[in-house]
Amino acid sequence: MKPYKTEKIPEISENPGFRHTKSLGQNFLTDKKIRDTIIEAAEIEDTDLIIEIGPGMGVLTNEAAQKASKVIAIEIDKSLIPILEFTLKEYDNIQIINEDILKCDLGRIIADAGDFATIKILGNLPYYITTPIIMKILEENISAKSITVMMQKEVAERMEAGPGTKTYGALSLAVQYYCTVKHIANVPKEAFVPRPKVDSRVLRLDIRSSKPVYVKDEKTFFKCIRAGFGQRRKTLRNSLANATGNDKEKSSRILELTGTDPLRRAETLTMQEFADIANKLFEEQKKE
Ligand code: SAM
Repeated sequence: MKPYKTEKIPEISENPGFRHTKSLGQNFLTDKKIRDTIIEAAEIEDTDLIIEIGPGMGVLTNEAAQKASKVIAIEIDKSLIPILEFTLKEYDNIQIINEDILKCDLGRIIADAGDFATIKILGNLPYYITTPIIMKILEENISAKSITVMMQKEVAERMEAGPGTKTYGALSLAVQYYCTVKHIANVPKEAFVPRPKVDSRVLRLDIRSSKPVYVKDEKTFFKCIRAGFGQRRKTLRNSLANATGNDKEKSSRILELTGTDPLRRAETLTMQEFADIANKLFEEQKKE
């Protein structure tokens, strides 16, 4: 294989060991300033275990390994593995795993890695699966402190959005229930090779040690949120019926008991209001 430097990503097409796979969201970061911004935002310490999602050719891996105790990089594309092994060969604290991030057992990978003070997640995510990746990390209760990731700008906007905005929805509530969201930087298409069609944004999601609202049953809470936003144009009286087995009377009663105007739409409700509705629904269901 030809010698390859991370700064020379545009030359990768000359590398005989690699064929670019568009369907895997392969847009490689070539802008060093953005790379440094991501690494700084992750606040990596020398006692940290870093889990990197989609290392690609190792641009972020290379920097993270200089600061962390250990880096585990999970990459689905087999043809990138020899490139990663080559570009990162000077490090003895990097483990490369050739697996699908959505299918791998993250809990097991972390447990097998040994004892670390803190686990931080890092990545320039494959955009086609940004939401499932984030939801997997959050729902599986991975004991990480933070998730510093680049994603499509529009998805980041949804994660950051508050009530009453067009982008506010189920993803905003799910992410904000588990994390506080910090806006790090906007990234133009020109920062990548090949250029993606969309702009990007870096966010840091700090996983909360305690939840921002009291929820009696998370399943019911997320069911109400999904019901509300599944039909976001409809009033709550109608949309909430999806969480009550199509029982409109029941959804009207829940709304009345929580003092919620049934003519409001899901996009106007705060997380606390969703929690109140879900807690009341859960109580009512327990009585049945
Ligand atoms: N970190 C590199 C960078 O910044 O240049 C590459 C980022 S690129 C946007 C996304 C990477 O995720 C690619 O290397 C791609 O092969 C990998 N990837 C795509 N789907 C994946 C999956 N399901 N599991 C693990 N890695 C995946």
